[in-house]
Amino acid sequence: MIKKVLIANRGEIAVRIIRACAETGIRSVAIYTEPDRYALHVKRADEAYSLGEDPLAGYLDPQCIVNLALETGCDAIHPGYGFLSENAEFARLCEQQGIAFIGPKSSVIHNMGDKTQARDSMRAAGVPITPGSEGNLADVEEALKLADEIGYPIMVKATSGGGGRGIRRCDTPQELKLQYPRVISEATKAFGSAEVFMEKCIVNPRHIEVQILADSQGNVIHLYERDCSIQRRNQKLIEIAPSPQLTPEQRQYIGGLAVKAAEAVGYENAGTVEFLLTGNQVYFMEMNTRVQVEHTITEQITGVDIVREQLRIASGLPLSYRQEDISYRGYALQFRINAEDPKNDFLPSFGRISHYYAPGGPGVRVDTAIYTGYEIPPYYDSMCLKLVVWALTWEEVVARGQRALDDMRLHGVKTTANYYQQILQHPDFQAANFNTSFVPDHPELLNYSDKRHPSQIALAVAAAVAAYAGW
Ligand code: ADP
Ligand code: ADP
Ligand code: MG
Repeated sequence: MIKKVLIANRGEIAVRIIRACAETGIRSVAIYTEPDRYALHVKRADEAYSLGEDPLAGYLDPQCIVNLALETGCDAIHPGYGFLSENAEFARLCEQQGIAFIGPKSSVIHNMGDKTQARDSMRAAGVPITPGSEGNLADVEEALKLADEIGYPIMVKATSGGGGRGIRRCDTPQELKLQYPRVISEATKAFGSAEVFMEKCIVNPRHIEVQILADSQGNVIHLYERDCSIQRRNQKLIEIAPSPQLTPEQRQYIGGLAVKAAEAVGYENAGTVEFLLTGNQVYFMEMNTRVQVEHTITEQITGVDIVREQLRIASGLPLSYRQEDISYRGYALQFRINAEDPKNDFLPSFGRISHYYAPGGPGVRVDTAIYTGYEIPPYYDSMCLKLVVWALTWEEVVARGQRALDDMRLHGVKTTANYYQQILQHPDFQAANFNTSFVPDHPELLNYSDKRHPSQIALAVAAAVAAYAGW
């Protein structure tokens, strides 16, 4: 069994991994760059090491991180999400140095990180993919010709894209001519690769993804699906497990497809297979070869600790569960509380958290690395807290989400919390009837007041006084 893990990440996911280590008797090693000196993951880990002044360089330096792991006697590295988590070179370096990379083999990361190669693998395995280009596009002429064959609207997508960037919808040839060089430039800047490909745009689809777990003995299981259709600019805002929009037959079919996809590529460890669903048609979109931001909601409905399973798998142990052991109960919602101003085009809102009061009560889970007095640095992702609620029924979980969002006090920066209240109040959301166009279709939900009811202000003041007195 792994005894000591270096966590090559920061923020809430680093804390999440440290917690799993603590519960399984594994020693945790944090890394940080100087802007993160007072970060929670640094305080919470058993050991912590500085990787220099630059806010990002240390977190993105494979050689430096692997060297540190060796020097500090770590036998494994957990990459979290973002940063180096889907960097095949990093995984390969770990393999060469005899350190367990907590994820799949470097060759699998490489193949799935290339979205056109992933499509090839799925085509070969008989998993349905969106109609689109066979490989990468050579130039805009080829793109125009192919778009005519496929039919508009189409999507131009960065082959090594992620995080919702490098994706543009084009409804006409004119738009395609305009957007094509833009995607190339965005892809080059964000992912260091100019390769792009084309997919038919599936209009108003649901984003349904399946969590899978695979061990080194070839056992693959799924932990049911998540519905991540509530998105803005291809980025997830609210995630739901299980999807309230699937029939039992669809659920079984899509879970089976995900297992088939993972088996086809020799997958190992935790991963997610993302699909688009329209009507009864399911299309493979991509595979994320890492723990996902929204793994929490799957944990809440199944009771499986996904990070703990990741540690077991990387230790060479078999999965703790067979497929028939996995059941789910109720519904879970996750709100990505971002330090952003929804009323100002979701502009990041960094700065000092003057006051934070955590929501609680039945069915509430908070994954965060913030605390009162914490200064959100401007160098990283704006997601600062994940609020997760669970309840037995859809109606109850929506009500619980509203109540928990109302419980929470987060002052000093603007956040997306109040905007999510508006989404939860919408009749279509409450009726579990939405697709990836929900957010763009409802700009009116941004017209809310940030002012709170007087009694709520009184509560915030009382909580602030209590927090001040206690600390
Ligand atoms: P999830 O698929 O878990 O929902 P997101 O798409 O929200 O994850 O991405 C999680 C984090 O990882 C974000 O900070 C995002 O910017 C980053 N990220 C994801 N994919 C890539 C990639 N290919 N290259 C760089 N950063 C990425
Ligand atoms: P990323 O790697 O950035 O997560 P994805 O390929 O997973 O990129 O796509 C992100 C989101 O973009 C999807 O959840 C979906 O909303 C939208 N999208 C991507 N491809 C298509 C498509 N072919 N048709 C319609 N929407 C799409
Ligand atoms: Mg995706």
